[in-house]
Order: sequence, then C-alpha cells, then structure tokens
Amino acid sequence: MKKISILGSTGSIGVSTLEIVAELPERYRVVGLTAGNNLLRLKEQIRRFRPLLVAVPDPEDARRLRTELGSDGPEVAEGVEGLIACATLAEADMIVSAIVGVAGLVPTMAAVEAGKDVALANKETLVAAGSLVMEAVTRKKIRFHPVDSEHSAIFQALEGHRLEDVRQLILTASGGPFLNSGLAQLKQVTPEAALAHPNWSMGRKISIDSATMMNKGLEVIEASWLFSLPADRISVHIHPQSIIHSMVEYIDGSIIAQMGIPDMKTPIAYALSYPERLPLRLPPLDLCSLGALTFSAPDKEKFACLGLAYEALRAGGTAPAVLNAANELAVAAFLKGEIGFTDISVIIRLALDDHHPEPLHHIDEALRADRWGRDAARRAIDSMN
Ligand code: NAD
Ligand code: MG
Repeated sequence: MKKISILGSTGSIGVSTLEIVAELPERYRVVGLTAGNNLLRLKEQIRRFRPLLVAVPDPEDARRLRTELGSDGPEVAEGVEGLIACATLAEADMIVSAIVGVAGLVPTMAAVEAGKDVALANKETLVAAGSLVMEAVTRKKIRFHPVDSEHSAIFQALEGHRLEDVRQLILTASGGPFLNSGLAQLKQVTPEAALAHPNWSMGRKISIDSATMMNKGLEVIEASWLFSLPADRISVHIHPQSIIHSMVEYIDGSIIAQMGIPDMKTPIAYALSYPERLPLRLPPLDLCSLGALTFSAPDKEKFACLGLAYEALRAGGTAPAVLNAANELAVAAFLKGEIGFTDISVIIRLALDDHHPEPLHHIDEALRADRWGRDAARRAIDSMN
C-alpha cells in the first residue's frame, strides 16, 4: 500500500490522480490533499478519500472547511506552511506535485528535502529552480518521476540505455489550437479559443501555454534538468496527432519513441507505480485506425515563446525563473482580457531583455527572481496600455 499526498488535488492532474486511486484502492491510500480554490470539489474529495491532513492557502477557506467538516473531518492546515505540512507529512510515501505555477516550488522542494518520493507534474518548479531541485534530489537519493507526458516518454525511452549514447531528445508538440492559423489571425484570438485544446483536456494556464507553445519551451527547460542535457541537444517537433509522446535519438541513429492515447492517466500511473505498470481502464490505442503520424518543425516566428524559453535556458541562472514569472503574469492578464494573445511573448521578451541573470544558490534567489519577473512584466503591460 503506497500512501500519497496530492498537492493541487482539485486540478486536472489532481483529479486524474484520484481517479487512478479510486480504481486501485488496494494499492493506494490518500493521506494528504491541498487545493488553492474549488472548496466544493475539495470537500467531496475529503469525504470520499478520507485524508489525514488537508491544506488550503487562504486562512478564511481553512476556517470554513473546519466548521463544515466538523470534528469527524481531517486536520485542516492553512497558508504556505499548510502546503509544506502536506508535502512533508510523516505518513506519506510519495507526493504528487500538481499545483500550477511557481506556487508549487516551495512545497515541492520541502517534499524533496523531507526525503519523500515525488511524482512531478508542476514543471514550473524545475523551470524556476532546476539546479537547486535536482541537487536536492541527488543528495536525498529520492525517486523523482516525471508526470509530464513528454518527460515520462523520454524516461521510458531512456530505460536500459546509457546517457552518453544519447544524441538528442525529441519533444513532440501538438501545436495547439492555432497550429494552422496565420500570424495576423493570432492577434484576434480570444481566451475561449485559446483554451480549446484539440487533443488534451487541461487546466487554464497550461492550455494557454500550449496555445503559445510556451508549454513546450518550459518542457525543454524541464527536460534539460531532468535528463542533464543542454539546450542544443533537445529539439521540438510538431506532431499534431499527440500519439508519440516524445522520443530519444541515439548516436547510432536509432530513435526510440513512446506511444499511447493522449490521456494523462498513463504517465501519472507510471510515475506512481514505477517500475511496475498499472492495469488502467483506458481505451486501447487503435493503431489500424490511426492514419498518418506526421512531424514538422515549429514556426519560430508564430511561436516566439518557444525561442524565448531556449534563450532563457542558455542564459541560465535566474533567467528561466524570470521567463516563467513573466509568462505567468502575462497569461493571467490575457485571460482577464487586459492584453492580446500575441502580447504574451512581447511582454516576456521585454522582461527578459531587462534582466541580468545571476547564479542561483538558494531557493530564495529563485523566488526573488520570480517577483522581479512579475514586476517587470507588470511594467511592460502598463507601458503598452
Ligand atoms: P489546474 O489549474 O487544473 O490545477 C491546479 C491545482 O493547483 C488546483 O488544485 C488549484 O486549486 C491549485 N492551485 C492553484 N494555485 C495555487 C496556489 N497559489 N497555491 C496552492 N494551490 C494552488 O492545473 P493542471 O492542469 O492540473 O496542472 C497542474 C500542473 O501540472 C501544472 O504545472 C501543469 O503545467 C502540469 N501539467 C499538467 C498537465 C495536464 O494535462 N493538465 C500535463 C502536464 C503537466
Ligand atoms: Mg507535456
């Protein structure tokens, strides 16, 4: 029986994780849950999965939960301290890190430092502070399994191979809802259109990141830290069918790919159960009715965010934290209707150009760079309006 604590249980990844737990109650028990909002869904999850500890960032939400759950309910913690308590819970064997954004960094790092195994969905953690997180993962000798489908695919394609035999990693990208739109059309894009991903059902922030292809940029940085390879050995191919989830090319020219239907339950389950595989109740991939699997190079002009992420990775130090922060702020501004879709990359460009990257020694420096990136993006938005 593996005991798990889920950070971000009410989100897309959190809910899929709980669906797997519900299918396999003899293998998994939920001991901790956290949510940033959607108390209604959190309460349902508490009733169903009976965790020992629950945490919400807002003290008012915590008070309300305590009253509504009564004396039979679990302990309810609040604030960042509450998230850390869930991430380091003595009873938990594994933490599923599924908060969205840099808000996941502090609790995820706390889990690693507490020696917990981690299933990582929260890519922003590695973007903002990859060097520090991976140093702690190595020092603590924990299991740190990728949930992101691309990284799960690469992890699987690397198994049994030597890193020195790798020529490059090839991340696949669907291209999002605007793969076939012209640059001029992108200027008119509404949040509703940008949120409608053709293949995957995901949270709002990552859906916008997929539409701008910043998601793939963040994944390039994530892959660089997870698999210890530099930017020039990670490439991105557009693959609109989202069947091949990513590939590894070896020095003998051989390419190993991992395939499956686009459902996050598969990579979540593998992160939970590695090295075993779980008998998931998902429709099989019907190879004979698939048709062609196609690949092409991304349009660099249309998807400027992808190039910005490569730039930040090459610049190193605090640059990726600033890229991530400016992106988070710009995406939120786009969703509120404050800026246009194509302004997202312009704002990140301005923030990065203004930034002088510094080396990262401590998580506080990553958090400071994050605040700096948000301020720079805010200034850029104000100057545009
Ligand atoms: P989501 O928006 O659906 O859910 C996010 C969760 O985090 C929710 O439970 C929310 O309440 C919580 N949260 C948000 N802000 C918070 C804060 N400030 N403090 C504490 N909790 C907070 O997001 P998602 O789509 O499930 O994505 C979660 C993470 O997984 C992201 O980093 C994303 O990039 C990554 N990821 C998601 C998918 C996917 O298919 N959804 C795939 C790969 C990677
Ligand atoms: Mg992904």
